[in-house]
Amino acid sequence: MSQEGSAIALSDHAGVVERLTAIIEYSPTAMLLVDGHGRIALVNREAEILFGYDDAELVGRAVEMLVPAESRPHHPALRDAFGSDPRPRRMGAGRDLFAVRKDGSRFPVEIGLNPIRTENGTYVLVAIVDISERKRLEARFRATIESAPMAMVMIDARGAIVLVNAETEKLFGYGREQLLGMTVEALVPPRFRTGHAHQREAFFTAPEARRMGAGRELYGLRRDGGEFPVEIGLNPVDPGDGMCVLAAIVDITERKRLEAALLRANEELEERVRDRTAQLLRQAEEMRHANEALENSNMELQQFAYIASHDLQSPLRSISGFVQLLQSEYAGKLDAQADDWIRRAVRSCEQMHVLIRDILAYSRIDSRARPFEPVRFRQVFDDAVSLLHASIRELGAEVTCGELPEIMGDPPQLVQLLENLIGNALKYHGKEQTPHVHVAAEIAADGWTFSVRDNGIGIEARHHERIFEIFRRLHDQREYPGTGIGLAVCRRVVQRHGGRIWVESEPGRGSVFHFTIPLRKEDG
Ligand code: ADP
Repeated sequence: MSQEGSAIALSDHAGVVERLTAIIEYSPTAMLLVDGHGRIALVNREAEILFGYDDAELVGRAVEMLVPAESRPHHPALRDAFGSDPRPRRMGAGRDLFAVRKDGSRFPVEIGLNPIRTENGTYVLVAIVDISERKRLEARFRATIESAPMAMVMIDARGAIVLVNAETEKLFGYGREQLLGMTVEALVPPRFRTGHAHQREAFFTAPEARRMGAGRELYGLRRDGGEFPVEIGLNPVDPGDGMCVLAAIVDITERKRLEAALLRANEELEERVRDRTAQLLRQAEEMRHANEALENSNMELQQFAYIASHDLQSPLRSISGFVQLLQSEYAGKLDAQADDWIRRAVRSCEQMHVLIRDILAYSRIDSRARPFEPVRFRQVFDDAVSLLHASIRELGAEVTCGELPEIMGDPPQLVQLLENLIGNALKYHGKEQTPHVHVAAEIAADGWTFSVRDNGIGIEARHHERIFEIFRRLHDQREYPGTGIGLAVCRRVVQRHGGRIWVESEPGRGSVFHFTIPLRKEDG
């Protein structure tokens, strides 16, 4: 650094000046010494590097050469003002300051001014710090905040808003210029303001990143007076000139609404489930009562049928005895008309006898029920066939069976079941062909399915269900005699064994009666 032009060289303080010059020269901060006329008297190494000049190019020149062109005209006046009240201070008081390099490029600076009095007048020692990097970081910080997807508000230790983003403007309905400088309590509903101010002060005494409000419901206040629920995260930050808090604010109105709707829907659902369960329980109870009543009346009906048919048996026996006597003793002795009447009376007695027998059989299914025992179904088949022996021989029918299992059941009832089914298969045979009946069994996951197949007249689909009802017949007595009780007995027996019965049939193509007998523990 040149000593030339160093107007501050004082003979009596030569040693001090030299020391001072050396300190300035090697300071890590760029420094200039400017005389009372605004001319540069001294430049240190850092300043040469910062501005890109040699000291020879600076010393003796007006300091304005380092000031951007637009600020140059005002600069001498500012310099004079400092000269009239010289005390150490920062330059620019809140304004952004810039300096210009030799190559014309500008850069932001912070400048400190220090007056130095000498015999030759007052000099100013100017310290210049390049704050480009700090400005760049600050800009990045602002850009980050600006692009955040939520409202972000930075406040200083006094609670004044110093930074906001576009989301904040949108959320609270204020413009940015209105928000900056405003106290943050203006964004809080009045009833929470005092508490908020205390909390804020407390935060600054122990700043740490955390959620605000821990467990309390927080609300924001819009410019139009509307309130909305919020969630707030707090972060202490120090942007360079004192501790601040950066608050991230999320409007949770929609979330609250959904939560409430979900809660309501849940409650409604629970209530509906409760109602429906109560209703079902009531229905089940009613059904149990109805079932009991039905069972009772069924029992009563069966008892009645049993007693009635039982009591009818003896008068019928005597009527039929006398009518038969009449027939054997008086046949041919009365006129032809009388003979015909007697024949009809005998036939009616026979029919009545069959009817009473069938009603008795039906009414005994439950009352004569026996505990289940292992039953070889082949034996059941043989017993049924031998009971039907006469009509099988008469018709020249073929009655066969496949391999039949052993099951648990009530043997006499199973014989009755098979006798009825094979009996029907024989009775409802087609006129043209020899009756052929085949009994088979098939195992399934839950039990046996038996089938009784015939090549008889078949049944129209619309009667498939109804034929199992008691007294339901599809033919009159002259065509096929019967009582309409047989299949009702079959259904009762199968039900007692826990199974079901149905028919597959088409007119002219024969019928297959199926029934299931579920497996029981005892079946092994
Ligand atoms: P019933 O034989 O005394 O009339 P059922 O209850 O045994 O009474 O049968 C009811 C009706 O079902 C019969 O009247 C008959 O029309 C029909 N039916 C039963 N078995 C057969 C069969 N194997 N083939 C054709 N029709 C049948």
